[in-house]
Amino acid sequence: MKTYEIAAIPGDGIGKEVVPEAVRVLHEMEKIHGDLKFEFTEFPWSSEYYLEHEQMMPDDGLETLKTFDAIFLGAVGNPEIVPDHISLWELLINIRRNFEQVINIRPARAFQGLRSKLANPEDFDLIVVRENSEGEYSEVGGTIYQGEEKIAIQNAIFSRKGTERAMHYAFELAKSRGKKVTSATKSNGIYHSMPFWDGVFHDLSNQYPDVETEQMHIDALAASFVTKPESFDTIVASNLFGDILTDIGAAIMGSVGIAPAANININGKYPSMFEPVHGSAPDIVGKGIANPIGQIWTAKMMLDHFGETDMGDRLLSAIEAVIRKGVVTTDIGGKATTTEVTDEIIRQIAEET
Ligand code: ATP
Ligand code: MG
Repeated sequence: MKTYEIAAIPGDGIGKEVVPEAVRVLHEMEKIHGDLKFEFTEFPWSSEYYLEHEQMMPDDGLETLKTFDAIFLGAVGNPEIVPDHISLWELLINIRRNFEQVINIRPARAFQGLRSKLANPEDFDLIVVRENSEGEYSEVGGTIYQGEEKIAIQNAIFSRKGTERAMHYAFELAKSRGKKVTSATKSNGIYHSMPFWDGVFHDLSNQYPDVETEQMHIDALAASFVTKPESFDTIVASNLFGDILTDIGAAIMGSVGIAPAANININGKYPSMFEPVHGSAPDIVGKGIANPIGQIWTAKMMLDHFGETDMGDRLLSAIEAVIRKGVVTTDIGGKATTTEVTDEIIRQIAEET
């Protein structure tokens, strides 16, 4: 029996509604596999926890998490009770940084039966590799005054090591996919960091002669994401550009409610963390209409990460079938509730076995 120890952090808002659904699905995967076990330990770390303890997680929180094979997270943030910069930094960013989850991967693809709002795309299937540790999201900078005038200075950090490892990851991934990497740049406008980024990309492309490469400026790339997503395979992007592109990716799929993501620790020292693209969605909490597919597809990425790719593929084909049938929540044009969608996915998994 192969056992995976998973730390589940449902977090805030609809995270609490969709994480249990994905856990149900994973227990169904155990049944059909027969030799696989997922042991979940749940942690209540959230904005509500903060109200009681004045911190998002206990002092030994990271120590505790370290021992797990993976972290399965719902959503963090409830700005009505805790400011986002506290909840996000103390929990999400804290885990990402300390566990060296330096890569963020987010796939987006077309599904039969799902009409996208922004485009009417061909069959697209792309994945964004986002540098997750440095870049534009840095704490370097400050505020200065020129007389009465306040000036904010924000520095972006691009190290050779950080840039290279994101690009290596993208090239390796592309080898097992469509063998093409697109680099998101803006070297015609950003003076220092982007020409550097382009140089590293050029060096790495020489190491992967079998992978086709292209570079696009982020503005044109964002437009092409909407008008011809089928022309992309693997995209490598800095922290900020990747963040923006993946929200567009979710939108062209049809809804942020189905978009999955993974924060990957590549040196094997710490667990990776799996969390959907969407947030806590306070506007729909408690209504039973949160789309569970983002969280369930995220569970598929966790299965793949464990090397259980056969189980991962089966889970994705169950998701495909359910979308094709139209048993989906309102955000993607259906009438089903959160639990009805999950029930249908579970039925589909059992049927296909
Ligand atoms: P964050 O700052 O955490 O990214 P956000 O406020 O930017 O959060 P979300 O919480 O993802 O964004 O919500 C954006 C919109 O998408 C909201 O209208 C929300 O209801 C909707 N939404 C998000 N997730 C889902 C879901 N799983 N099912 C249905 N609708 C969703
Ligand atoms: Mg957001």
